[in-house]
Amino acid sequence: MLSDRVNLIALSPTLRISARAGQMRAEGIDVVDFSAGEPDFPTPEPIKRAAKAAIDANFTKYVANDGIPELKAAIAEKLLKDNGLKYDLNEIIVSTGAKHSLLNIALSLFGPGDDVLIPSPCWVSYPDQVRMAGANPILVETLEANNFRLQAKDLAQAITPNTKALILNYPCNPTGAMYSKEELQALADVCVREQITVISDEIYEKLLYDGTRFTSIASLGDKIKKLTVVVNGFSKAYSMTGWRLGYAAGSRELIAACSKIQSHSTSNATSFVQKAAVEALKSCALDVERMRTEFERRRNFVVYKLNAMAGVSCVSPQGAFYAMPNVRPYLGKEFQGAPIRNTYGLAYYLLKEAHVAAVPGEAFEAPEHLRLSFATSMDRLEEGMRRIERALMKLEEPRSVRPKALNNVVTKISSYVETRSAPGLDGRNELLKEAESHLPPDAYFEWNAAVAGAVVQLRTNSPHLADFFQENFYPAPLESDLEPHGVIYAVKDVPGREPSAYYHAETATAFAFNTAYYGQVRSLALIIAASQASRASGALMAHCAALDVDGKGVLVWGQPGAGRTPVLGAALSREGVRLVASDTVLLRLGSAQPVADLPERKLYLKAKWGKHFPEVEKLLDRCKLENIVTTRDQCHLEWCPQGDHCPLDTGAPACLLASDHGRVMLDPYWLGGARRHVRRTAPRLCVLLAKDPVLPSVQELSAGDAARQLAVGHMPGLAGTRPVPFLDPHRGFFAGPAADAVRSQYERLFSGTRCVLLNTAVGSPEAQAKRLLDLVP
Ligand code: PMP
Repeated sequence: MLSDRVNLIALSPTLRISARAGQMRAEGIDVVDFSAGEPDFPTPEPIKRAAKAAIDANFTKYVANDGIPELKAAIAEKLLKDNGLKYDLNEIIVSTGAKHSLLNIALSLFGPGDDVLIPSPCWVSYPDQVRMAGANPILVETLEANNFRLQAKDLAQAITPNTKALILNYPCNPTGAMYSKEELQALADVCVREQITVISDEIYEKLLYDGTRFTSIASLGDKIKKLTVVVNGFSKAYSMTGWRLGYAAGSRELIAACSKIQSHSTSNATSFVQKAAVEALKSCALDVERMRTEFERRRNFVVYKLNAMAGVSCVSPQGAFYAMPNVRPYLGKEFQGAPIRNTYGLAYYLLKEAHVAAVPGEAFEAPEHLRLSFATSMDRLEEGMRRIERALMKLEEPRSVRPKALNNVVTKISSYVETRSAPGLDGRNELLKEAESHLPPDAYFEWNAAVAGAVVQLRTNSPHLADFFQENFYPAPLESDLEPHGVIYAVKDVPGREPSAYYHAETATAFAFNTAYYGQVRSLALIIAASQASRASGALMAHCAALDVDGKGVLVWGQPGAGRTPVLGAALSREGVRLVASDTVLLRLGSAQPVADLPERKLYLKAKWGKHFPEVEKLLDRCKLENIVTTRDQCHLEWCPQGDHCPLDTGAPACLLASDHGRVMLDPYWLGGARRHVRRTAPRLCVLLAKDPVLPSVQELSAGDAARQLAVGHMPGLAGTRPVPFLDPHRGFFAGPAADAVRSQYERLFSGTRCVLLNTAVGSPEAQAKRLLDLVP
C-alpha cells in the first residue's frame, strides 16, 4: 500500500503528453511538438567546455552540500548586478534544479494546516509540492482580462489566518504574465502587511519581450526582502534543462533548513555542472540574448496566428516561451460523434488527428486553454499552426444526447479497515452505547435483510449505507416481532474516532465507525450470515467466484494478483458459461451433492470487472455506484492501460479502470438474463489459482492438499503478502468454528469435486479459461 502522499499527487501531465508525442515519433509519425518545457537551443559551447574541463580535472567527487563556493559567489554577484539584491554566501543554496530548490523550500516551510496561495493558471508542480509537504494549495484565480496578473486586492482577499506563503512566478509558466515594478510593489505591500512569505520563482527572468525589464519583488525594500526567497536556475536561460541546476536565495535560517533537507536527499548538485554554471554566468549573456530575440520573433508569429483562428483568442505573453490560447468555443464540440469534453480531450484530439502535441490547460488550472510552447523552430511552428487550424475546423456542434448523471457516491474512506474482535461482552456493550448515542430515534435508518437465511439488521445514520444495503440483499419478511440473528451498527460522524470496525461473535453484533464505505458493511453482514449458517446447518461461506457450465459448478479461488478476473472474464465470454457469484458463495454441504448459492440479491462488483465485461459499462446509469471515477482529476493512475485515449475526455460518463476502489451494485441478470446468470450451481470443479513461472499449467490436487493449501492462504508464486487463511479477506467468516473444523469442511467439499491448481503464469487468460473449462468433469 502506498502512502496517502502519493495518492494526493499526480504524474506531471506535461510529461505524459511529451512521452506520448515521443512514442508517436518513434513510430515514424511526424509530430509537431508544442509540449516541451525547454528551449530548443543547444547549451552554449563555453558551458560544455567548462564542464568537460572540470571532468578532465577529476572534479567529479562529492562537493559542498549547498553548492561550491565559487558558484555561490558567482550567483551572489549575479543577484547583485542583475537584481540589486545583496546576499551572503550562507543565504544561497545550489540545488539539483529550481524544482528541487522549490521542494526544499516547501518541505522547510510548510506543514499540515498551512495554506499556500498560488495564482492560477500556475506551473504544474506548485500545488503538488505543497501537498507533498502536507499543506493546502489555495489557488487564486487570475483573469485573462488582466493578462493573468494577480491583483493586489485579490491577494489581500485570499489571505486567512492559515495563509503561510505566496508562490509568485514571473514571467509565468504557463501564461507569460509579467509584473511592472508598481504592480509588484502593490503585492509586496500586502505581503508585508500580512507577514506572508513570498517564494519568487524567477526562472524565466531572462526571457522577456517588448522591452520589458525584470524587477525582482525582493528588491523592493528590506521588509519584503526579508520575507522573500528568490528561486532561479540555469535550465531556461542557458538551455541547460538536462544538467539539473538551480538555486535559492533567502534568509540564513531558511537556507540552512533547505541545506539540512538536501543533505539527506540529493547532497550536492553535480560537481562539474556547478563549474559549468560559473561559466554560464560569466560569459554567456550574448547566447541568452540571441535566444531571447528568436523567441520574441516566434511569439509574435504564434500569437498572431492563434488570434487569426476562428474562435481562438490568445493573450500576448510578455515572457517565458508559452502561448495560452483560449479555446473555449471548441470545448463541447464533437469529432465523429465523440464529444470533446475538456482541454485534455482537445489536446488528445489534436495529437491523434493533427499530430500536434499541446498541453491541456487543465494541467495548469486553466480549463479553457491549451499551452503551446514556442521553443521550437519557425518551420515547425508554421506547420503546427496550420495543423491546429485545420483540426479545429473539423470539430462539429454536438449532436449526441448527453448521458444522464450517474448515481455515484464518493466516500471519504474507500477501503476496508480491519474488523477487530470486540473485547468481551462489556466491550461490546460500551461500543453499543457509543453507537446508539449517535443514532437518534427520529433520524436513523433501520433495515432487516435476509442474507443466506439469516436476518441481519443494519442500523445506520448514513443514507448511502442504508441505500446500498437495501439494494444488495433481499428484504427479510416484514413481521414486527422478527428478531434479527445479528445487528450491524454503522455510524458516521463520530467526533474524534478513527475509522474502525468490530465484531462480537457471541452476540453477533458488528460495528463500523466513521466509514461510509459500503464494502465494510457488506463484509460485516456476510460475517454474521456466515456464522449463523455454519452454526445452523454447517454451511460454509467462501470467498471465491462461481461459474456454472451446463449445470456443473466451477469454484475459483485466487489471491489478489493471481489474475482471477481475466480468467473469469475469458471463461464467461464463452457460450454456455454463466456467472453465479463474483466473490462470495454460500456452500451447503449437507446433502449428498453440495450446492453453491449466491447469497446476495445484487452483486457489489469491483468496477475493474468492466475491463472484462463490456456490459458493465453500458449498465452504469441503471446501477448504484460507489467511488467511480467520473472526472479526470479523480484519476490517479500513473500508467493507464487505455493509453492516451482517456474515455472521460471524449464523452464517457465514467472510467471503470481508474480506481481500485470503484464499485458497481449490479443485478447479475442485467448481464444477459438467465443465459448469463444463475443463482445456484452444483460444484464439480474447484480451482485454486497459482501464478508460478516454474509450475506446470495445471496440477491435480487431492482433496486434503487443496484444503491445506487454502487454509494456509498462500498460493504458489504469490507469496510475499501476508497469508490470508481460506483467502477470506473479511477475516471473520470463520470467527466461530476453529480453523481445523473449517479445513475439514473444505476437505469434504473437495472430496466430492475435482481439484486443480491452475497456473495463470502460463498462457493468455483465454488459453487459461479454455484449459479450465476443459477440466470440468
Ligand atoms: N519553475 C517554473 C515556473 C518552471 O517552468 C520550471 C521548469 N519547467 C521550473 C521552475 C523548474 O526548473 P528546473 O529545470 O531548474 O528544475
